[in-house]
Amino acid sequence: MLIVQKFGGSSVANPEKVRRVAGIIADAFSEGHSLVVVLSAQGDTTDDLLEQAALYNPHPSKRELDMLLSTGEQISVALMAMALENMGLPVVSLTGWQIGMQTDSNYGGARIKRVSAERLRQELDKRRIVLVAGFQGINKYEDITTLGRGGSDTTAVAIAAALHADKCQIFTDVEGVYTADPRKVRGARKLDQITFDEMLELATLGAQVLHNRSVEMAKRYSVHLEVLSSYVRKPGTIVKEVVKKVEQMKITGIAKDTNVTRIAVVGLPDEPGKAFRVLTILGREKINVDLILQSVGKGDSNDLSFTVNSADADAAVRAIEECRDAIGFDRVSVDSDVAKISIVGAGMLSTPGVAALMFEALADAKINVKMISSSEIKLSVLIDAQYADLAVQHVHDKFFGT
Ligand code: ASP
Ligand code: MG
Repeated sequence: MLIVQKFGGSSVANPEKVRRVAGIIADAFSEGHSLVVVLSAQGDTTDDLLEQAALYNPHPSKRELDMLLSTGEQISVALMAMALENMGLPVVSLTGWQIGMQTDSNYGGARIKRVSAERLRQELDKRRIVLVAGFQGINKYEDITTLGRGGSDTTAVAIAAALHADKCQIFTDVEGVYTADPRKVRGARKLDQITFDEMLELATLGAQVLHNRSVEMAKRYSVHLEVLSSYVRKPGTIVKEVVKKVEQMKITGIAKDTNVTRIAVVGLPDEPGKAFRVLTILGREKINVDLILQSVGKGDSNDLSFTVNSADADAAVRAIEECRDAIGFDRVSVDSDVAKISIVGAGMLSTPGVAALMFEALADAKINVKMISSSEIKLSVLIDAQYADLAVQHVHDKFFGT
């Protein structure tokens, strides 16, 4: 079989862990599989690099930031290659550039356009284990780009799609995809299977287990995707198109996202097109807006509130402030002490009363809901950040029992 394996930063955080992962790779290789292995930067390397950058410039250009951040993954693949060489295994480590991982020029959040699989195939034909630096690509100017935080999952899936691999295994420090974060939520259960759509929602809504673009891509190219533990050798969770559920669950999982900021444009004139203009500004800045709420303010003005990823909050506020005169609002207020709690599940389509159960759980815990948004298979609420964990536990208890 041709297998793409991906190991996250925590799985290769120190020499001992690197050797453990080398063992997993060696076993798969000795079973006769062809292997491409994608690695993330060791441990907190990416965060440390970001801190270093800030010592020199509080607002470095995104191009230079990508130049810096991409180095973390290169360290990982080089060290892993050495560990495997030391075991007498044939191996080669490659950068995003070397495997032709072509992306657009959106530094810091680049999208993959094409993977020219040539070099990968050449190396596989030589029966080498191919180690690839995750998270990085190259744009049409031959500059290094990165795919956004957590982007190594997407590197792995893109390679699996390009090579038509038999499967793509994402190794992580939990045993698979759970109903909620097993490190924080009592009673969280591992799922044997989950659909692409459910996984995509969970990933987008803050479940840390997979990068949302990787799920999008796996769905588009029908990649056989599996999430499993790099510590315990047992089956993980399979992500696929259709899932037959043995037990009819109302929802599949709960996600928490504390990386959200609520922005309110206060005193927006009550005229057609005003909300549209504010949201257009954000679109132009490539800032994603999530929960949106327009409430009636005083007199003939409204308040428009919405949430953005906290990393985008400063840029969002700056862009909107610049248009204050043109649009004519009073002020912008910002609240970053908020968290988004979401429930996800294809079962919501056919089960009435799911929303009510969630609100009941929050009411029991005396947690106030500030904003709500729903789609076919998800329901999100915005609450005070300090109650985030409590909320997830109560909602989880409500749906999955204690
Ligand atoms: N090292 C990068 C990050 O921390 C990419 C990844 O881990 O997938 O976001
Ligand atoms: Mg990750």
